[in-house]
Amino acid sequence: MKNIFYSVFVGLFVVVGCQSEPRKTVPEVPLVAAPTKVVAPKKVAANAATILSKKEVPILCYHNIRDFNASASGNVKVYTVKPPAFAEQMKTLADEGYETILPEQLYNYLVFDGPLPAKPIMITFDDTREEQFSIGAAEMKKYGFKGVFFIMTVSINRPGYMSKEQIKSLSDDGHVVGAHTWDHHMVTKYTGDDWNTQLVKPKAKLEEIIGKPVTDFAYPFGLWNTAAIPEIKKSDYKMAYILATKRDSVDPLHTIRRIIVSGTWSIEGTMKAINSSFIKSE
Ligand SMILES: [Zn+2]
Repeated sequence: MKNIFYSVFVGLFVVVGCQSEPRKTVPEVPLVAAPTKVVAPKKVAANAATILSKKEVPILCYHNIRDFNASASGNVKVYTVKPPAFAEQMKTLADEGYETILPEQLYNYLVFDGPLPAKPIMITFDDTREEQFSIGAAEMKKYGFKGVFFIMTVSINRPGYMSKEQIKSLSDDGHVVGAHTWDHHMVTKYTGDDWNTQLVKPKAKLEEIIGKPVTDFAYPFGLWNTAAIPEIKKSDYKMAYILATKRDSVDPLHTIRRIIVSGTWSIEGTMKAINSSFIKSE
């Protein structure tokens, strides 16, 4: 033990010493123990303009995955994808070489120029529906895909919605659990204690369920305003997700764009939308 400590100490001394006065004190010891982390450069975070100029990673947003018939309302058709269509979409993404990424990788790409796969995509689910677990995650598993599940905490354990155990199991399987408020009221209407009820408490509840930090938030209906962003940040959300509207010029990390995959889209239409809905380059 003594020898190891001695080597580390002397090694450190050598590395530090070499930068200023290299010839003065160089004892005859091997350099193997010198920790390389000491000289790693500090990363510089990108500013808003740089983030906005980057190629966007396509992000899909799903709600219900179940059957519906031709007479269903327009709303149902937009917010619902039939199980065979969802399966076909996952298979097509895999066949075309897409690889799913998760928020941490997106953040590192946007802020620190971190690496991405050749064809990155993020797959997200809003509103806690049970079939997102039983059909969504099961289909994704066939291709090694991981997604982000935005949970509104009021719905947990209700019929048709995910249970605590299912949410925990998604997290344990490597999916990301994000927050989607307590009861889906739009953030543009919050006053007083609403911020605590809709942003702070749901985060704590989800963290208690999964045993990990919750760092991502999806705005109900994709609706946001500039008054909400400081509250979202204060509540310790690193990133927040809107729908296909324009990002905020000051805070693009809290206005990350997604598209809803409509139940009326063909597979060709879906792939076309993925290709055309996101900024391609700077
Ligand atoms: Zn929602």
